[in-house]
Amino acid sequence: MIEVRVPLPADRSYPVLVGPGLASELAAHLRQHALPSAGRAAVVTQEGIPVRVDPGVEHRVFTIPEGESAKTLATIEGLCRDFAQWGLSRADIVVGVGGGVVTDVAGFAAASYHRGLPVVHVATTLLAQVDAAIGGKTGVNLPEGKNLVGAFWQPSLVLCDTALLDTLPEREMRCGLGEVAKYHFLGGSLSGAKIGRMAISLDELAIDERVARCVEIKAEVVAADERESGRRAVLNYGHTLGHAIETTGRYDLRHGEAVAVGLVYAAELARSLGRIGDDRVAEHRRVVESYGLCASLPVGADPEGLMAVMARDKKALSGFTFVLDGGSGVETVADIDVDTVRAALEAIR
Ligand code: NAD
Repeated sequence: MIEVRVPLPADRSYPVLVGPGLASELAAHLRQHALPSAGRAAVVTQEGIPVRVDPGVEHRVFTIPEGESAKTLATIEGLCRDFAQWGLSRADIVVGVGGGVVTDVAGFAAASYHRGLPVVHVATTLLAQVDAAIGGKTGVNLPEGKNLVGAFWQPSLVLCDTALLDTLPEREMRCGLGEVAKYHFLGGSLSGAKIGRMAISLDELAIDERVARCVEIKAEVVAADERESGRRAVLNYGHTLGHAIETTGRYDLRHGEAVAVGLVYAAELARSLGRIGDDRVAEHRRVVESYGLCASLPVGADPEGLMAVMARDKKALSGFTFVLDGGSGVETVADIDVDTVRAALEAIR
């Protein structure tokens, strides 16, 4: 088992434990890290999650529906009403067991119910282990857009049980690998930006160490900018084009698959701005392809449609804004010329 700490002020730091079989040790870890006195646990999960946990205290299991459509205020209301009918109190905790949909929903319900109960995540997808369960962003969607309602609510403990990845469908695994590919360039590659003590190549690591290293990189970014006022934007590396590909809804690409294309695009754009050289672009392509992900735009992609969505990016500062690699690491770059943005799209056709 590997322990990574997310360092936060005011005694809110918490451990992320990574390793096989951790879900079955939940009771012991809860006692040690999150629920020292005898409270109760509301376990939030989905029917399709192939693991049942025993928190070692009185508990009830509350299931939410599958998929992005479960991330609604109605789901939060339903959960909070169930919690109230059971009599859940501030002495108790919420445990989210699942992928990013569960951890986002369980985290937001925990943040809202009784104005905040501790929450613990048992992350069961690769994406949740390296990203969604870490860092305290919780929330749900509105018909008007994704993740528009939510709260920053840090967990007390996160368990990343890597044995659970064995049952993950291949496509879900690839989605997580898109985010893992991103971390290669946020401190996970020798030639990349150095966040933290040392830059270790993710290529050299086995799955447990690789997940732990991704968690460590995310933890360091979150610690530097808990509420996303600046530095945390680097976690959106590859996401501007990725989101545009998803938003247009015309291509059969999932989030991580779209981010992978976005990473290679960001590298092409950085090269045309003179920020990185050919080797670094080749490195982006190599990493993305090594995870079995596609490095070019989907067949039939409409560059003008993608440009229109990217121009409306909600994280944009002024003009076309991208998170780009460069000599001093990955950072936000604003006011990029429209012709440069268009030409880089051609380079990944
Ligand atoms: P998901 O939670 O929908 O899980 C994918 C599917 O895999 C589901 O059908 C689930 O039932 C199934 N599953 C989960 N674990 C399994 C296992 N071990 N074996 C077999 N099947 C399993 O999808 P996801 O990709 O984990 O999360 C996506 C969500 O995460 C999105 O809503 C996104 O907005 C959110 N997200 C949040 C953050 C954040 O910082 N809060 C970051 C990234 C993504």
